[in-house]
Amino acid sequence: MIGVLKSMATTMKHALDGSTFTVEYPTAAPDVSPRFRGVHKFSQERCIWCRQCENVCPNDTIQIVMDDKRNGEQYNLHIGQCIYCRLCEEVCPVDAILLTQNFEFTGDTKHDLVYNKEQLKSVPWYKDIDPLESREPDRGAWIGEGDGEVDYQ
Ligand code: SF4
Ligand code: SF4
Repeated sequence: MIGVLKSMATTMKHALDGSTFTVEYPTAAPDVSPRFRGVHKFSQERCIWCRQCENVCPNDTIQIVMDDKRNGEQYNLHIGQCIYCRLCEEVCPVDAILLTQNFEFTGDTKHDLVYNKEQLKSVPWYKDIDPLESREPDRGAWIGEGDGEVDYQ
């Protein structure tokens, strides 16, 4: 009985102190952890088409198509089957694929969740946060990168 009264007192205390924890999404965008793993962003300007991300992915989420001269033609990512392990980002030698904090994407069919390189490039940052900068500040951020400014080839 005393335990019940204590828990009720705690509930009333927090109900009346004016603090709120519920975020009224989508009117207000919730904060997410710096290590939150959301949909990917891809930079064709950075990519050297080494295929390491494709090889390391445990469930064939990434498919790369290259021509007979080993130039990259397609970079497709089946976000609907991704398990957000972040191995693709970790293995990439030039930070060309990056998991953003963006969780705001939907699709009616699994085909809607297959993103090509143009769609991946257009994935917006969540709250303008570059996760690479927040996780590993020494590596240089993506924010501010213009089209074609980074070329590792
Ligand atoms: S996060 Fe993991 S499952 Fe998703 S594409 Fe990258 S390697 Fe594949
Ligand atoms: S995204 Fe990175 S790991 Fe994947 S092919 Fe391009 S350079 Fe290689």
